[in-house]
This record gives sequence, C-alpha cells and structure tokens, in this order.
Amino acid sequence: MKVRVTNIQRFSLNDGPGIRTTVFLKGCNLKCPWCANPENIDFNKNEYVNNNTGEQGIFGYDIEPEKLLQEIRKDKSYYQVNQGGVTFSGGEPLLQIQALEPVLKKLKEENINMCIETALQVPNELVELAISYIDEFIVDIKILDKEENQKVLNGNVELYEKNLQLLTKKAQVDIFRIPLVNEYTLKEKNVEKILELLKKYKSNKVEIFKIHNLAESKYASLGKTMTKFTPVEDGKVQELYKKIKQLNREVEIIKI
Ligand code: SF4
Repeated sequence: MKVRVTNIQRFSLNDGPGIRTTVFLKGCNLKCPWCANPENIDFNKNEYVNNNTGEQGIFGYDIEPEKLLQEIRKDKSYYQVNQGGVTFSGGEPLLQIQALEPVLKKLKEENINMCIETALQVPNELVELAISYIDEFIVDIKILDKEENQKVLNGNVELYEKNLQLLTKKAQVDIFRIPLVNEYTLKEKNVEKILELLKKYKSNKVEIFKIHNLAESKYASLGKTMTKFTPVEDGKVQELYKKIKQLNREVEIIKI
C-alpha cells in the first residue's frame, strides 16, 4: 500500500529532538480554522493555482514504502549525531498508520528514532498500532469543550481523552503542543480545561505557539479564504506560560 504525502522536509529542527526528516502526510479528519497546512487536510490530491505567480500543480503524491524509506535514510548519519530521526506530521498522520506500518517496522529494526505529531482524535486501534512503533509522541491540545470541539473542529473530545489515557498508560506523551487562538483555545474556560488536562496527564514538555497567517497564499491557491483571527498579545502568551510553569512543567514558547 502506498503512502500519500505532500512533502518530505529534510533538516527540520522543530519537530522533535535533533535533526529530523519530517514527512507530511495528506489527510486530516479535523478542520481547525487556523490550520497552517491546508493542503494536508483533504486526503484527495488537490489542484492548485498560485494567484501571484500563475504556477499550477497538485498537492499530494503517493509514495511506495521502500522509496519513503530511502528518503528517510538519506540523513541517517545526522540522526545518529544528536538523537534525531524522522517525524510524521500532517494532516493527521495516524490516519495512514496502517499504510505506514512496513516503513515503521524497518525504521525500528534500523534504530531510527520515530516521532509523530497527532491531534489524537482518531479510532483507538490506530493509536494502539502507533504505540507499538513510535518513540516520541507530540500531542496537540486544542478546544476541550465537547460541543465547541465538535462544532469548530469536527472533533471528539471524549475520543481524545480515551486515546490520551491509552497513550499515557502504555507509552508517554513527550510534548503537548498548544496553538494559541484568542477566539478559541485562549478563552478563559478553555484555558482552565487545558490546565486541568495538564495536571492529569504528564509530558516531558509543553510547547505553546501563536498561530499565524503565513498560509494565506496556500489557502488562496486552493480557492479558499483563511479565517482571520485577532493577534495574540505577548502578555497573554506570558500569562499562560506562567500558569503552566506553576504546575511545575517545562514549557517553551515556540514558533511554527
Ligand atoms: S489537526 Fe492539524 S492538520 Fe488537521 S486541521 Fe488541525 S491544524 Fe490542520
């Protein structure tokens, strides 16, 4: 079975420890209005036209597991120097975990560190499968109110928590990653829920980041309009940073 990707990015520094190759998998079951990778949401390949340059193309291509392995192995010598490896991102990479399994098996045999960035709102068995291979989990925390999560993201908070329980029982969360959006994730009630969740589930680190509008031209090339949000003030970022620190958690403000 082939794997559908949009991009394989070598020498990534923000997707787990060390130097990494990030594989962006196509397809996501959520629809975060601040998504910075709109080309990865639809599993189908999308035609695009860049309105500024006139360039046309297709987002997404299918790659054989063996070819994907070859791409990942290219930087093997760098991974060994500083505990780097490969990160599967997206989209929601867990949705293609079955197609990825032959790749994961080989990478495990070759001792290449594997990290996955996930929103965890997928069927339990996909999480189970990931746990048997993946070394590091980066887990998003977004909207935690049940109705709002369903309405805005098309997600399922109960499923998310079940998967979190499963993951923390059988493996661990390395990084919790929180996008900061005034209109949603930073609402007072949501922040309270985030802090409760952090009290309940351990992780090595928490990362917080301001969302941005850099994907605006990608939205336009797909014939879509990116939702505009109010800029998040530094004071608000610091406030959340301090609250997480007070829980004795390592926290970092990152740029994505
Ligand atoms: S989970 Fe990630 S890829 Fe999917 S819509 Fe949200 S931000 Fe985009």
